[in-house]
Amino acid sequence: MTRKSLHFTQMLQPGGWADNVRIGLADGLIASVESGVSAAAADERHGAALPGLPNLHSHAFQRGMAGLAEVRGPSDDSFWTWRETMYRFVERLTPDDLQVIAALAYVEMLESGFTRVGEFHYLHHDRDGRAFADPAEMSGAIVAAAGESGIALTHLPVFYAHSGFGGLAPGEGQRRFIHDVSGFAAMLERLRPLLAGLPDAVLGVAPHSLRAVTPDELAAVAGLVDGPVHIHIAEQVKEVADCLAWSGARPVEWLLAHAPVDRRWCLVHATHLVDAEVRGLAASGAVAGLCPITEANLGDGLFPSAAFLAAGGVFGVGSDSNVLIDATEELRLLEYGQRLAGRARNVMAPAGGSTGGALWRGAVAGGARALGAVEGLAVGAPADFVTLDLAHPSLVGRSGDALLDGLVFAAGRGGIDGVWRRGRRLVEKGRHVERERIAARYRRVLAGLLG
Ligand SMILES: [Zn+2]
Repeated sequence: MTRKSLHFTQMLQPGGWADNVRIGLADGLIASVESGVSAAAADERHGAALPGLPNLHSHAFQRGMAGLAEVRGPSDDSFWTWRETMYRFVERLTPDDLQVIAALAYVEMLESGFTRVGEFHYLHHDRDGRAFADPAEMSGAIVAAAGESGIALTHLPVFYAHSGFGGLAPGEGQRRFIHDVSGFAAMLERLRPLLAGLPDAVLGVAPHSLRAVTPDELAAVAGLVDGPVHIHIAEQVKEVADCLAWSGARPVEWLLAHAPVDRRWCLVHATHLVDAEVRGLAASGAVAGLCPITEANLGDGLFPSAAFLAAGGVFGVGSDSNVLIDATEELRLLEYGQRLAGRARNVMAPAGGSTGGALWRGAVAGGARALGAVEGLAVGAPADFVTLDLAHPSLVGRSGDALLDGLVFAAGRGGIDGVWRRGRRLVEKGRHVERERIAARYRRVLAGLLG
């Protein structure tokens, strides 16, 4: 067992900020935490430390098409035209391509302050739509990319069977995503030993959306694991209209009435809600998985954050399409969307509280719940943390939550000095230790895919 001790002038712990904190690590896990103590001679010494942020929703392969869907088509562009671009990109990817693209995405996540990713993974089959000899071949590429980058992985294989509400047959562009329940269960069994070899990995499932699964399939798939259950929901107004036409209920209304939604569940986007759905979602204990950069990029709409927080709701953030990977920018845009829509300031903060503090703490707690991980820097948790550059002009002279306000609203990712995963420093001065190799390989593969 490898042991070491680190000392920090300040640390954000689950109970709040503490000064002069000493943590003992055993094999990358936090074995002891003391505060109000001075450093011992052999301790590594750092300034301020924060728990790393969980990224609760990613489609890693979409990093490869970032910026490729920003040209206006002949008619009005929408989520649905973006999806056509995505389907064309997805047709070409091999398992090796997927690993190369995902590894770069995970390097960039770590550099920006994310230490765990929830990979909502739906690209399962070969280019012609046939299953690989090993049904978990594409998931294996995700597991390998997580291992190379060092990021913690909550793997969320997606169950996808239909192209619309009421069990419509899937379309040709969806052929690489499709399973029946028994084929999906067989893939999960292949995955369990793969994930057992990856430190701190968690297995969940992701019924893709109410348009892609029937009620019977939803119940069967959610019962296949003990881990998290994630679903895309109410992202688009067309989806709300189609759900009403199918069932007479709105998507979140239908889900809360027909599925055992609780703390295991993460409802990704949940953008379009009426008041009763806001209250019902908050009361369920499920996490609202918000993806502000992607939701802005796709023109989805704005989640009703103020009403959801007032009802006691729990949220986390995700980088989703990975068009831009930046933890602080997700939090900043989450708050700024609310400010612009409500013509108000400091919407996500409690009365008298720091907005940066409320955003970081909220996303750490909600992200951990959504990804089946231990929350924050506590005994027994992996030592996954971010250290700040206290000499940064937007952080200098500050402590406690004022550091988080400076980080989220002023410094951005430039205020991050180091990022640590399981006690290993993977990011130094804002750069991942494997960036050069992983980025060079990415450039070669993308040139081929786009050429
Ligand atoms: Zn998504």
